[in-house]
Amino acid sequence: MMHVIKNHTGWIEVICGSMFSGKTEELIRRLKRALIARQKVAIFKPKIDNRYSKNEIVSHDLKKIKARVVEKPAEILNQALESHVVGIDEAQFFDENLVGICQTLANMGKRVIVTGLDQDYQGKPFGPIPNLLAVAEHIDKMHAICVICGNPANFTYRKTEEKEKVVVGASDIYEARCRNCYVPPEENEREKE
Ligand code: ZN
Repeated sequence: MMHVIKNHTGWIEVICGSMFSGKTEELIRRLKRALIARQKVAIFKPKIDNRYSKNEIVSHDLKKIKARVVEKPAEILNQALESHVVGIDEAQFFDENLVGICQTLANMGKRVIVTGLDQDYQGKPFGPIPNLLAVAEHIDKMHAICVICGNPANFTYRKTEEKEKVVVGASDIYEARCRNCYVPPEENEREKE
């Protein structure tokens, strides 16, 4: 099989969008297709995200696939050398070095599939995702459905009052909202005063 991969160009795919838009589900679907074709797949996720499961990536609808938990993007490079396909979930939690690591992997001829939130709960670009979008060959922006009105949702609304950028949680803390129904945290504060 190695002669195939040598003549084969690598690339970066980014699956982004709000929470509950099906990003991880789509990542799992793509990785399973690769596994069916007997490609070697390595899957990574950042240490910060330990909801549901420690060494698996799990979508909200509970589809699962085995993943390695790493703290820094450099660890991905070391552990992905033998793989044809590299999946990275919840990439917004990695630092900016992830962009260079994904470029290196793609330059080596690998297919790199990255998922992440493109915006944080304040509606601001999140971690390395904006720069990954700039260098990716393929981008899919997924949408959830607004829980208030049913329009396509592009925002992640935090229902609780925590101010930290990262508060790990699911539907207990966050919900998907469209542009009309999303209220940025600053405005929410003002309205309460
Ligand atoms: Zn709405």
